[in-house]
Amino acid sequence: MPNPIVQTGHPVLRAEARELTQDEIKSAEIQELIEIMREVMRAAPGVGLAAPQIGESIKLTVIEDEAGEKTKMSSEELNLRERYPVPFHVLINPILTPVGDEKVDFFEGCLSVQGFAANVARYKKVNVKALNEKGEEVSIDAKGWYARILQHEIDHLNGILYIDRMYSTTFTTVENKVRFWDSLDQAKPLSQ
Ligand code: ZN
Repeated sequence: MPNPIVQTGHPVLRAEARELTQDEIKSAEIQELIEIMREVMRAAPGVGLAAPQIGESIKLTVIEDEAGEKTKMSSEELNLRERYPVPFHVLINPILTPVGDEKVDFFEGCLSVQGFAANVARYKKVNVKALNEKGEEVSIDAKGWYARILQHEIDHLNGILYIDRMYSTTFTTVENKVRFWDSLDQAKPLSQ
């Protein structure tokens, strides 16, 4: 299967995606799309994928972070990021609200800005209200890396990329990040 992830410059990444209705959520088409997105995210590999990233302008995102060994981060680095495993789940029509004012700075990347990374300030804690793949209401209180993933993915549904929020002087190729930045911050760029 050719890589279906669209890259920055494609207008679908800059549009506000539309909400799904209950009937649409339960349709075979959307259930199939969720399965495809799960496979595309895992193959990338990434810890999140928003529907606009595969050309579908709808408010749907999938998230899964195994944390642990695959990240090639030490337990110290994972702890610093408050990065813990997050099982696969689906968020539809999500509304994100920051909890408190505190922000944290770390490098992140994006599957739609392939080969680059930058330092981005994100809220440390957030609440997300959304529908799951069955159309049921969910409310998520998240902190640390999971809160970062949620902010990144929900931005995608509103036409926003991390490059809009980054400290622009930290924008780097992944190669140069490893070469020049990792001694300052051991973060492995993480694609979302
Ligand atoms: Zn992204």
